[in-house]
Amino acid sequence: MICTLCSTHQLDHGRLCPDCARTTLGRLAQLPRLWATLEAWLSPGTAGPAGPAQYGGRTRMAEAPMPLNQEVLDLRGPGGIIGVLEDWREAIHSERHLPVPARTGSLWYRLTRASAGLQDQVHFIVLWEQGGQLALEVRHLVDRVRAVVQPGRALDEPPEPTFLGYCIAVDEGGIICGRRLWADLRRTVQCGWCLCQYPPDTWLALRRFQPGNHPPPGEQPADGRAPGTAAA
Ligand SMILES: [Zn+2]
Ligand SMILES: [Zn+2]
Repeated sequence: MICTLCSTHQLDHGRLCPDCARTTLGRLAQLPRLWATLEAWLSPGTAGPAGPAQYGGRTRMAEAPMPLNQEVLDLRGPGGIIGVLEDWREAIHSERHLPVPARTGSLWYRLTRASAGLQDQVHFIVLWEQGGQLALEVRHLVDRVRAVVQPGRALDEPPEPTFLGYCIAVDEGGIICGRRLWADLRRTVQCGWCLCQYPPDTWLALRRFQPGNHPPPGEQPADGRAPGTAAA
């Protein structure tokens, strides 16, 4: 038997080699954050690489290719990343005669539960006859997200940094930090000057408040602070 995922390592038993098991575990853990990141690519009008067209401004983000909105909607919808993970969790639970968890709650709740549930089952997955297929589908989900967020990158190539915008943190004297920020899907983006942090779920707001953009009334941060966590 050869490892289903890498087609390289010979196995005495099971479907996945230790490396591919670790990689699959990492992808499962990463998927909720990738799902959240996709929000910034959801609407071409307000965010994502298409740039804020309705502001009439030509921002740096306008250099990036057009987003694949339908693909983003599919991935973020109940039948996308969430549905695939829940289907697999359900298959494992029925295989192991465990109670099948209900698909209730918010999408985020369902996603994080399904992701955590599958991570808990990784030792079973490695040996399970369908474990290889599960790992392939999980890899495919991550690749689909990458294709939206990092178009043109090969499968497991490290992601090329994407320009996210300028740091919008304001110091006590009212000076905007303005450091260039680069998106990194693997971790929270941190400004190298003011140390302000921008988790993926704040990227949408960060883009909206870029210099030159004119946010709709009511969306201006009340105290001029960045949507990220407090500046140092
Ligand atoms: Zn392998
Ligand atoms: Zn900063």
